[in-house]
Amino acid sequence: MRGKKAKAQRRARRERNERWLAEARQEEPRLVSALPDMELWQRGRYTFCVPTCHDDLPDELKQAVMAHRTASLEGACPSCDLTNLVSGKGLVVTRHEEQCPAHPDRLVELGERLGVEVNRRA
Ligand SMILES: [Zn+2]
Repeated sequence: MRGKKAKAQRRARRERNERWLAEARQEEPRLVSALPDMELWQRGRYTFCVPTCHDDLPDELKQAVMAHRTASLEGACPSCDLTNLVSGKGLVVTRHEEQCPAHPDRLVELGERLGVEVNRRA
């Protein structure tokens, strides 16, 4: 009984997320705030937090950061089958598969290998 209820709740949440994301993607992304390491974008009533891609990054890292940004804003990653979650307050969180080059942990590892500090908040 308990398992069925939890499963039904997860399904309802997933369906709600998909509905909200479809709604968000009907709107053009609009930059609302640019901090040194991250940017906040708005699509309709939904907020997307993405890492800033600085021009002076090494090309390999720049490509991985751009993939992460694009996946966050568009909801599809060229390298993995990511999961999108929407918080009750409308913040959209994207989860890449563990080995995806756009996964925040892989970005940090790539930054360490290239000698560039990468903040994994976004
Ligand atoms: Zn990915």
